[in-house]
Amino acid sequence: MRMSVKKAVQLSVIITALYITTVHFFSKQTILSSDARPGLDRGERSWDKTKETPGRSTGRKDRVIQSIMQLERNKSIGYGNQERVGLNIERNFISDSAFIDNKKDRIDFQRNKELSLQQPKDEVKTEVRNTVLPVNLTLFESNTNFRNTQLSDIFIGMKTTERYHRERLDILLQTWVKQAKEETFIFTDEEDDEYELKAYGHLIVSNCSARHSRQALCCKMAAMYDMYLESNKRWFCHVDDDNYLNVVQLVKLLNKYKHTDDIYLGRTSLNHPIEATDRNTPDMKKVKFWFATGGAGFCLSKALALKMKTYAGGGTFKSVCNRIRLPDDVTVGFISEVLLDTQLTQVMLFNSHLQSLWNIPRDQLTKQVTLSYGDRVKHKNIIKILDGHFSNEEDPTRLLSLHCMIFPDEDICKRKRL
Ligand code: UDP
Ligand code: MN
Repeated sequence: MRMSVKKAVQLSVIITALYITTVHFFSKQTILSSDARPGLDRGERSWDKTKETPGRSTGRKDRVIQSIMQLERNKSIGYGNQERVGLNIERNFISDSAFIDNKKDRIDFQRNKELSLQQPKDEVKTEVRNTVLPVNLTLFESNTNFRNTQLSDIFIGMKTTERYHRERLDILLQTWVKQAKEETFIFTDEEDDEYELKAYGHLIVSNCSARHSRQALCCKMAAMYDMYLESNKRWFCHVDDDNYLNVVQLVKLLNKYKHTDDIYLGRTSLNHPIEATDRNTPDMKKVKFWFATGGAGFCLSKALALKMKTYAGGGTFKSVCNRIRLPDDVTVGFISEVLLDTQLTQVMLFNSHLQSLWNIPRDQLTKQVTLSYGDRVKHKNIIKILDGHFSNEEDPTRLLSLHCMIFPDEDICKRKRL
């Protein structure tokens, strides 16, 4: 009797083991033979009702499929040393539809897709030829079909701090920010009802500290980058709060480039590449790269900005700042040039107060994309406008006079010089 109980137990253990192995084998087969595809990425593709694969909640099977996809993608993208593998890699996948950035493009895309599914009738063939995407081209490849870039395609992020609200913001709010109030978001560190109103409701109070430290500045840049991603715009541009931005020249400049290409535009402040230590490498590798100085303003195309997600999205930007122990603008250069192999395109139309602003000829001032000012008493560095709309006393930075030189019909310029 005792023997038979022991045998029964042994038998049941063997049967259970056999059952588990069989189930595991078949479920793996089913997963691998499924139609594997990535999940939807919030804010980029979820709008796309034409997709054959609607979003669905991720079950265990889907998670396995996704992790297999991620591994594959990880290999093909070739980011060897990213800081966080996992969630962010998922975001590195850029679909064609990620480049459709407003309602009009979306409708066009949907219409084109529908049209390309139908066989066009002979009589309408010529009419639709221009709008239907060639069969073997994806939207991404045929991006020459995109309309021109407009101001509304640009996200402009500005860094400021509470003590500069009164001192620096007024002049910008009355001039160029007024022309780009929908596009400009001002990142600060303290609530300020007065300036929230003056900034057309676009004063963003970050959780970052009010210090001129690497961490505080990187924190603001991280917040700005995340908000840019939400905006789904074609370009991400950054300026400081002592920068005049000529919005017309900016649009003109960006129209020379495709937002679907990897583009990093700005101006260097050094005459040699910066050297940094990459603390994420076992041998603390030294890396050399160029970066666009933040004080002159810089822009990133959507294609490049989306690729940066792994290193900059969801607050990861701050850890990359720590990785090289350098400020926010240098970190953008590191991500672009070193991690993503996209070199800075130097544009001399961006000007920080590290350039000799007083030396720019008057007829060139109106052509610059950005201009700044240095107001240190001993080292004044201010653009030269002798017969401006406003006197030096009224307009010590000369940015008001500059604005009126470019846009004489603006309300603020209508009054006579005192
Ligand atoms: N800034 C900041 N927090 C601070 C000091 C400065 O966010 O505590 C911002 C400031 O508003 C500006 C940028 O950092 O947009 C550069 O600051 P600033 O012009 O004073 O210095 P610079 O680096 O140009 O000499
Ligand atoms: Mn400055």
